[in-house]
Amino acid sequence: MDTDIQKLKRNYEATKDSSSMITLYHTLIRIGNLDDAKKLLEDFASNRVLATFHLCKICGITLSDICQYRMWKNLRTKDYLIVCRNSKCLNWIDNHSDTFKEVEWSRGGPGRFILVCGSCPFRENFDCKHPDLTSNGGTGLEVKFDTSLPSININFGTHCKTISNRPAISCIGNKKG
Ligand SMILES: [Zn+2]
Repeated sequence: MDTDIQKLKRNYEATKDSSSMITLYHTLIRIGNLDDAKKLLEDFASNRVLATFHLCKICGITLSDICQYRMWKNLRTKDYLIVCRNSKCLNWIDNHSDTFKEVEWSRGGPGRFILVCGSCPFRENFDCKHPDLTSNGGTGLEVKFDTSLPSININFGTHCKTISNRPAISCIGNKKG
């Protein structure tokens, strides 16, 4: 067993990638080495340099406020697209409305909750690589939704946007979330 662990550790150290991290993490959990599992998560998270969600894929603008962006799914390729609220960029989406469907903020799913996942070190592009996520072989990640109001208003300075569905506001996998 020890040699297996050493092999998995060496593999993770060499690649630092999510699949070797997830395999090592589950092995550590299985043998009850929770301290090393926790250290592994911290190491993985601290070594991540993530592509940002704060970038419009059409005009290229970067804004610090995630509320300035909306997310769309390409129904043909299944890719996701982050677009700013500039009318030119939204017009481009309108002109391709057969191809793109908006992903509501509260309904993005793991790796695609725009408010919660944007800053998360376990996000890989639009996927969640946290080892506790059920689809990564874990026991599940708790995501909290804002249940205080049926809808929330977000002020953008010049106009307000009402979000009619309860947004995901935190995830146990993203400590900053
Ligand atoms: Zn834009």
